Amino acid sequence: MREVEIAPTFEDWRQAARELLLHDIPPDEVVWVDASSHDPSRLDFDKTARPSPGGPKSPLISVPKSFVDLARRVAEHHDPARWSILYRLLWRLVHENRDLLRVATDPDVAAAARMGRSATQGAEGPSAMGQPPQLEPDAAIAAAFLPTDLSLPALREAAARCTGCALYKTATQTVFGMGPTEARVMFIGEQPGDQEDLAGAPFVGPAGEVLTRALAEVGIWRHEVYITNAVKHFKWEPRGKRRIHMTPRLQEIQACRPWLEAEIETIKPSMIVCLGATAAQSLMGPQFRVMRNRGRAFQTRWAPWLMATIHPSAILRIDDPAAQEQAYADLVADLRIVAVRLEEERRSKTLGELPPAAEK
Ligand code: SF4
Repeated sequence: MREVEIAPTFEDWRQAARELLLHDIPPDEVVWVDASSHDPSRLDFDKTARPSPGGPKSPLISVPKSFVDLARRVAEHHDPARWSILYRLLWRLVHENRDLLRVATDPDVAAAARMGRSATQGAEGPSAMGQPPQLEPDAAIAAAFLPTDLSLPALREAAARCTGCALYKTATQTVFGMGPTEARVMFIGEQPGDQEDLAGAPFVGPAGEVLTRALAEVGIWRHEVYITNAVKHFKWEPRGKRRIHMTPRLQEIQACRPWLEAEIETIKPSMIVCLGATAAQSLMGPQFRVMRNRGRAFQTRWAPWLMATIHPSAILRIDDPAAQEQAYADLVADLRIVAVRLEEERRSKTLGELPPAAEK
């Protein structure tokens, strides 16, 4: 172990962390010591534990800007553990997963997000008490609003205050997912529509009626499944007196993903059904094509069985009655696959007895 003593500032931590990283020193070999909390006689601490500037490797260390922003906020927190959490995050971003900050349920990400949120709220002073921090749109920003308790009521309450991207400004309210915690199937749509925005509930408008009817045809009841959206606020543009749906941008989908991940983490569904490209690409990546893959089951890190199909609103946009009827029949056919799998699961006592989905 090596003791690394730093002034309790983001700049000093960054300098030390950079040196440690360049010397390939893993987080579990480092003990961070706050110089300001030490006896003055120790201020001339032995810096031999801290690697000398420069290292044997390239000095270029590239991390997402979102990490730098988050680290600055976390540095303002008072928890002594913040330096080790930040260095562990940095190490893992560089060595394991550059998209780590999008994994809102990761313990390090969640801890840093909580500290960043708490520090920001404290810095805003008493006049801002109770107000969520105003932050830049960012892939991990919604994570800063996640509660410690990942129960559905706590998540719903916290999401109601989310300002993780600009969409909250023009929407009526956050539309969080609905359904029982013990639901085995989670349906994920794109974003709330006009009626959902007003009602504060997902899939209660025309597209929701189509979904409910199609589910009933295959013997699945809405009250037994969990239904949510990839993006929790309604994105729209005015046209006359009407509010016209706009497709959320990738940045908005990513900003909102911590909520979706937290829902998945809490429900732990054995089956996920993505309705439309936005939901499917949110979980399966931007290369995923719904029309090419609809009806196919994938084994994913989100759930052991994930399938994509079209969004019910796509059916409503078809003008030709015959084509609309066919599109609806195709949706029902896809949902029947879900119903069969659900029935198999009901009959089977354990998931392990079920055939696995294709690898993904
Ligand atoms: S869309 Fe998602 S990330 Fe953006 S403000 Fe709403 S809840 Fe937060």
